[in-house]
Amino acid sequence: MADVRTHERQVKAALRKASLAEPFFASRYSFSPYMACGHGCAYCDGRAERYWVEGEFDRDIVVRTNIADRLDHDLSRVRERAPVSVGSGISDAYQPAEARCGLMRQAAEVLLRHRFPASVLTKSSLVCRDLDLWHEVNAAGGFTLSISLAFADDETRRIFEPGASTVEDRVAALRAFKAAGCGIGVYAMPLLPWITDTPEGLAGLLDLCRGVGADFVIPGGLTLRPGRQKDFFLERLRTAFPNLVPRYRELYGEDRKSGSCRPDYGRELSARFARAVEAAGLATQIPHRLYRDRLPLYDELYVLLCHMVEIYEGRGTETDRLRAALARYRSWLFERKRTFNRRRSETQEALEDELRGDFASGRIDGLLDNPKLACFLGEVAIGRRVFDYVSLKLT
Ligand code: SF4
Repeated sequence: MADVRTHERQVKAALRKASLAEPFFASRYSFSPYMACGHGCAYCDGRAERYWVEGEFDRDIVVRTNIADRLDHDLSRVRERAPVSVGSGISDAYQPAEARCGLMRQAAEVLLRHRFPASVLTKSSLVCRDLDLWHEVNAAGGFTLSISLAFADDETRRIFEPGASTVEDRVAALRAFKAAGCGIGVYAMPLLPWITDTPEGLAGLLDLCRGVGADFVIPGGLTLRPGRQKDFFLERLRTAFPNLVPRYRELYGEDRKSGSCRPDYGRELSARFARAVEAAGLATQIPHRLYRDRLPLYDELYVLLCHMVEIYEGRGTETDRLRAALARYRSWLFERKRTFNRRRSETQEALEDELRGDFASGRIDGLLDNPKLACFLGEVAIGRRVFDYVSLKLT
């Protein structure tokens, strides 16, 4: 990889706050110490024009030097305790610049001091440098390490992710965090059509995930937004797999703004992956047990409902009633949070107690318009039972 040029910036705020929990990471807050990424993955979404990243994407790295200080400031002002996730589509917090800058180590110290739960998604084994701190964060509030890995062979990594850690090192990082008692998972994305999304490719990846004791494996397809991102990827494809270029041009020929491929291919891949993960006895979402005591109760139920829709759909079950209940719960929660945000004296605990009261009184049945689901959620909210994403049973 070429040497990177770092560009130092001071930020006013570090923490991005979502009004509803983010089901993908089971978190409410996030931050990013860098912009752009020295890992230089050929498919990286960060190259797309919509992100306004200036310079050469994998060489000109913006370093937010005061991120830990601002994080400390922002965390001392939030009213709801919820996980902070680190890992965005346009930079990796443990990219090569981090070895010199050490911003993540400072940020981990801040999260530990505030006893906030956290999660990191990375393609780098550099995260192991901070295992001592993340271990303490886990004991204080909870920590999950997620590794982005969509194939089991390192030759593919050399072609498409030249600056990221080897497959072997990423697997070693997962093992180390598992041994330290942290939750671990794999974001298997992007799966590359006819290269890594083959039955053999998926089987090799899932064997690896099972072998390391992953708590979850979340799949994702390749998106190619028209413009810089798509052009860059197709050029890399042309050098490594020239025979596939016409097939990719056809698959992504509609040039959708989102960068997604032909819908029929995406649907078939999702269903195939869900079946393979289920057969391997793995969860396709962050398991309930890894977020239930970290999110506020009202957010926990929201994430659980979102995950249930995905899981049941992946298994081919009809989900219209579940979706309708989720929509009602989402709009209730959205409105209730608006009031919560206006009433500065109201606390997270009071809002959680109000929700428990709604279960005890039966008011939740009216809200969800689904008595069976209300009863199920009551077991979670009041009985504090855990929904197992593999067996689909309460434990
Ligand atoms: S690690 Fe993530 S952010 Fe960095 S280049 Fe690869 S895909 Fe982009």
